[in-house]
Amino acid sequence: MDVLFSIVSLLFITRFADLLNLKLMFYLVKVTMMEIFVYCKTCDKKVKAVVLTKHEREYDDSISGYRRYGMVRILEHNVGFKKNCSDTSQIKAIVESDSKDDNSVFN
Ligand SMILES: [Zn+2]
Repeated sequence: MDVLFSIVSLLFITRFADLLNLKLMFYLVKVTMMEIFVYCKTCDKKVKAVVLTKHEREYDDSISGYRRYGMVRILEHNVGFKKNCSDTSQIKAIVESDSKDDNSVFN
C-alpha cells in the first residue's frame, strides 16, 4: 500500500513539474519576442508591434547610419476610453535604426 502511494505521489510530482516546465517555456518565448513601436495606419497612434522577420541592414546617408526593415504584427490597442482599434495587421516597418523621431519611434 505504501509503495502504491509513493508511486502515485511521484506521478503527481512529475506531472506538476511538467506543467511548470511548460509555463517556463511559454514565459521564455514571451520574453524573447521582440516588441517595437510603430505608427498604426488606421488610427495614427504610436502602438506596440511584434517583430516577425528582419531584413538585411541598410546604410542610409540621410541619417548617417543604419536601418533595418522587417515585417511586424501590430498588437491590439486602444484609441480612446474602452474603444479598440481593429487594425492588428502585418506591415513592413523599420525594426532597427540609428535614428528615432520625437516619440522614440524608429525612422
Ligand atoms: Zn490603430
